[in-house]
Amino acid sequence: MIKENIQRIKGEISNSARKSGRNPEDIRLVAVSKRFPATKILEAIQAKHLLFGENYIQEVKEKRPLIPAPARFHFIGHLQTNKAKIAAESCDMIETVDRFKLANALNKHLQKIDKKLEILVQVNIGRDPGKSGIPPENTEDLILQLQQLKNIEICGLMTIPPFESDPEASRYHFRKMRELLEELIAKGLFQERKQPELSMGMSNDYQIAIEEGATIVRVGTAIFGNRPAL
Ligand SMILES: *Cc1c(COP(=O)(O)O)cnc(C)c1O
Repeated sequence: MIKENIQRIKGEISNSARKSGRNPEDIRLVAVSKRFPATKILEAIQAKHLLFGENYIQEVKEKRPLIPAPARFHFIGHLQTNKAKIAAESCDMIETVDRFKLANALNKHLQKIDKKLEILVQVNIGRDPGKSGIPPENTEDLILQLQQLKNIEICGLMTIPPFESDPEASRYHFRKMRELLEELIAKGLFQERKQPELSMGMSNDYQIAIEEGATIVRVGTAIFGNRPAL
C-alpha cells in the first residue's frame, strides 16, 4: 500500500508541476511519518523513498536510530527551545523556526557538534491564533537576525494555512506565501540560494500548493493512511 501510494503521489506531483510549467524535479515530497512506527518508514524506504517528516521530538529520538543513514528527517512540529539540542543532533532540517530564541539555541548546540543545519522560517500566513509561525510582516526582520547565526542555513519559508475542507480555498494563502518569498528575494535576502524553498501543501491540497510554487510538500495520510490516535 505505502509503495503504491508513494508512486501515485509522485505521479500527481509531476502532473501538477507540468500543468503549471514547472520542473517536477524542483519539488520534494516529505513523507510525514508522525505517530507511525519505524516499520512503516522502512516500508517506504523499500519503495526508494528517503525523506520523512516528524512532529514530535520524542518520536524522532526513538525512531532515528532504527532507520538507515541515507534517510533524512525534517522536523515539522512546534519545537520547544528546551528540545533544541535533540533536534539539532537528530534532524536534517527544521522547517518550523519562528523565533530568534529557538534558532539561537539550535545554533549553540550545532556549534558544539560542529554541524551545519538547514532551516525554514515558519510563517503564520493566515494569522491563525491557534498556529505557530511568525506574522508575514515580521519575517524579513527575523531572517535578518537569523543570518548572524553561522551554523544554521536559512533555506526558505514554510507554512500551515488555516484548515479548509475545500482545498481550493487554500490557494489564496499559498499564493500569499509565494508573493512573500518573492518580495524577500527581491530585497536580497536569499542571495546565496538558487531557488529558496517553499514548504506548503499536505495530503488534501498539495497539488494546489505546487501550482502556487511549493518546492516541498508534506504528505502523511495519503501515504501512510489515517494516523493512530495518540
Ligand atoms: C501532520 C502534518 C502534515 C501531514 O498532514 P496530512 O494531512 O496527513 O498529509 C503536514 N505538515 C505538518 C506540519 C503536519 O503536522
